[in-house]
Amino acid sequence: MPITHEFEFLRPSSLGDALSLLADRSGIKPLAGGTDLIVRLKNGQDTPSAVMDLKQLPELGGLAVKDGVLTIGAGVTFAELIESPLIRKHYPLLAEAAQTVASGGVRNRATLAGNIVSAVPSCDSATCLLVCDASVMAVSARGERAIPITEWFSGPRSTALQPDELVKCVRITLPEKKTGGCYVKLARYNGEDLAQAGVSVLVDSAKNYRVALSAVCPAPKRLRKTEIFLKGKRPTDKTLSEAVKLVALEVCAITDIRATVEYRAHMTGIMFKRCAAAAFARLEGKGPRYGEKLV
Ligand SMILES: Cc1cc2nc3c(=O)[nH]c(=O)nc-3n(C[C@H](O)[C@H](O)[C@H](O)COP(=O)(O)OP(=O)(O)OC[C@H]3O[C@@H](n4cnc5c(N)ncnc54)[C@H](O)[C@@H]3O)c2cc1C
Repeated sequence: MPITHEFEFLRPSSLGDALSLLADRSGIKPLAGGTDLIVRLKNGQDTPSAVMDLKQLPELGGLAVKDGVLTIGAGVTFAELIESPLIRKHYPLLAEAAQTVASGGVRNRATLAGNIVSAVPSCDSATCLLVCDASVMAVSARGERAIPITEWFSGPRSTALQPDELVKCVRITLPEKKTGGCYVKLARYNGEDLAQAGVSVLVDSAKNYRVALSAVCPAPKRLRKTEIFLKGKRPTDKTLSEAVKLVALEVCAITDIRATVEYRAHMTGIMFKRCAAAAFARLEGKGPRYGEKLV
């Protein structure tokens, strides 16, 4: 299907120029990998007056650890996340989630930043960023600000980003303690399918748990009551069976074309149990290898 809507194509050569363009006029859509935006342009779901290509901006690239903080540039693709030794060392959970996105061809183009800006409830990076307590660095001609990921998602396709802002990078403070993590994605089939449900668990050596869900509620969310209940506990069958009751209370499952409320609620419990058990086992140097399918 061709794009029938006409728009101006902008290709700024610096981040400063890009931000000036966004400050001076409305109706500009930033373009990263285009795996979400191009589909929406073709379908007529987005009709911007201009599309602004970000791929050539050096300020948005790169993945680095400095002063105990992991920085993932807005231009970093899922393929780069999977291959990064820094991600594998510090947050293999992120590589595990990236591996579930679409197919190799899409992952070569699709960026983490594009994923969280598109903010569909099923976005695969959301739960990992939530359990890692990431911050999104937004930049505009007015300056820079850090948006905690817990304040980022405000509903389906809705975020805290303002129209004149770009995502510059995502930052994650490296944990002080040893951690084990896990991301479990439920989809209808192997291959390019969006999640029916996504669960992440991150646990540290002091048995502090962080739990997040995506695709189950209108927006990805942390499950704080479940986290408090799990604190200090080993994930025995009994503990997880109790915790699942809290998970059920904390989710507000939705029905859509991919699954019903009932199926989501049921599967979320099973996924949470497996995810928590795997995260804890990995913390102890055991458990399934990262990337192994658990549902
Ligand atoms: C076949 C197919 C399968 C898919 N499967 C999955 C899947 O399994 N899991 C999943 O989560 N997603 C999936 N997606 C969705 C999509 O690939 C992801 O959301 C992707 O990460 C979007 O990144 P992008 O770089 O392509 O963004 P783009 O399409 O370029 O942009 C997406 C949105 O983000 C905005 N944007 C991009 N970069 C910035 C920035 N730096 N600052 C401000 N705004 C910005 C754009 O304006 C646009 O609104 C799939 C898509 C396709 C086509």
